[in-house]
Amino acid sequence: MNILLVNDDGILAPGLAALHEAVRELGTVSVVAPDSPQSAAARSITLHVPMVCQQVHVDGRFWGTGVGGRPADCVKLAVRELLGQRPDLVLSGINAGANVGVNIFYSGTVAAAAEGALLGIPSVAFSLQGGGEMDFRRAAGHCRWVLQRLLEGVLQPGELVNVNIPMLGGPRPCGVKVVPQSTAAITESYSRKDGPDGQAVFQLREHFDYGPEQSETDVTALEEGYITVTPLKSDLTDRLRMGHYSGVRWGNPPS
Ligand code: MN
Repeated sequence: MNILLVNDDGILAPGLAALHEAVRELGTVSVVAPDSPQSAAARSITLHVPMVCQQVHVDGRFWGTGVGGRPADCVKLAVRELLGQRPDLVLSGINAGANVGVNIFYSGTVAAAAEGALLGIPSVAFSLQGGGEMDFRRAAGHCRWVLQRLLEGVLQPGELVNVNIPMLGGPRPCGVKVVPQSTAAITESYSRKDGPDGQAVFQLREHFDYGPEQSETDVTALEEGYITVTPLKSDLTDRLRMGHYSGVRWGNPPS
C-alpha cells in the first residue's frame, strides 16, 4: 500500500513524525508536507507564485519533500508530479490541536485529506486535542488502531474521515464515537493594539469557546474523552433546497 503522509503544522512537526513511525509498517510511506506551519490554511492553494520543493531529513529517520505551499498544494503536487505511483491512502496529521466543530472549515489538516478525497483517494485526517501533554507517540498508536479498523472494509475510494484523539491521560480515550460535525458557532474575540499611525490592528485570540450543543456532536464526544470519527463529504450542495430554488420563476436572463 502506498501512503501519502501530509500535515498542516509543517514537515518538521512532531505529530507528523509520530504518525510516520506508527504507520510505516502498513506500506510505503511518502511524506510531502508544507515547509512552514500552515494551520488554518483551510483549502487554500498557491496561485501565481512558484512553489519551491526540497528534500528534508525528518527526525533523523526519514526523508520527505518540504513544499513552499499550502497543505492542499502538497497533496495535489504529490499526486500530479512528485510521487511515482498514485497513493492508495492519504493520511494527514497528527495535528497539534483538535479539529472539531466549525474549526473543521478552517483546518489545513482536514483540507489536505479533503484534497486526497477529491482526487478519489481514501483519506483520513488525524488531530490530537490540545490542553494536555501532547504525547504524539501515544496518540499515533491510537491513530493506527483507528486506521486499521477503517481499512477493514469501511473506508472506500474518495472517502474523507476526520478523526480526533482526546487529551490523553487517566481513562482517556474512553472509547470511540462516530459523531456528526457540530456547526454551532464558536465564541471568539480579537485583541486590539492600534498601530503607530493610528491604523486599527487586530489579532484573533487563541482562546475560544464552542457554542452550546443541542445533541451529541464531535465537540461533545471529544470533550467527554472519546476518540471521534466523523465521515465528511465535500459536496456542499443543499439538495433539500434545490427544489425551492428551482421553483423560482427565473425566466430568461436580460439581454
Ligand atoms: Mn495545524
